[in-house]
Amino acid sequence: MGIKGRIHSVETFGTVDGPGVRYVVFLQGCALRCKYCHNPDTWNSACGSESDSEDVVRDMLSYKSFIRSGGITVSGGEPLLQAGFTRDIIERAKQAGFHTALDTAGSVSLDCSRAVLDAVDLVLLDIKSIDDKQCWSLTGRGNAETLATLDYLESIGKPVWLRHVLLPGWTLERQQLHTLADHLAQYRCIDQVELLPFHKMGEFKWKELGYQYALLGTPEPTDDAVSMAREIIEARGLQVLLRNHDIETKSKKIG
Ligand code: SF4
Repeated sequence: MGIKGRIHSVETFGTVDGPGVRYVVFLQGCALRCKYCHNPDTWNSACGSESDSEDVVRDMLSYKSFIRSGGITVSGGEPLLQAGFTRDIIERAKQAGFHTALDTAGSVSLDCSRAVLDAVDLVLLDIKSIDDKQCWSLTGRGNAETLATLDYLESIGKPVWLRHVLLPGWTLERQQLHTLADHLAQYRCIDQVELLPFHKMGEFKWKELGYQYALLGTPEPTDDAVSMAREIIEARGLQVLLRNHDIETKSKKIG
């Protein structure tokens, strides 16, 4: 028997959440309320379906031939809200010989997350805003735990793919980007910075759930603004990967 947890959905042929082809398991539950969230149906930790870490990895193994050169990614929601479940999936996947990745906003305390961070091979860490005050406005939480998570990952030499959503009027501002670039340039653990231009692909879910979408009037970024962001980050010697609308909304409900 493994550890019980709640799952939102599974993507069996993921190509954006880590290297190679990935089996991506999206866990249910998130304490943040990002204004641009394209999966608000992951928020409620009581929804989704109950599963068992042993069953998750057994299902993953049935796709072994596809993901041999990739691996497994535990995403969300916020997977660190179910740290024991997440850690057990990762450890079982590693025992089966797979590369493992964790997709997280790092918004829980290190007391809860440390063992998962120690176990996983790669962390996809999403910094919502380098400005703590802006982070509160944008997500309902500050960025202290995320930045402490990055410090810890640096201290243990864990590879990180840093993620950052470019939101016009918020994070996609010259000064914000310079501050972010200055901060990130200190870290040797960051292999690449993934810049994710804001999009409204998940807006329909907000409507379906009866939530008010706060960014209705916010435009998607222009190419020039995205290029400006890229140049600012690259100027600090960081490798940038631009992701254009290929972070798909999560729709494959299991169970
Ligand atoms: S951390 Fe992710 S799942 Fe949670 S609110 Fe933000 S975008 Fe949505």
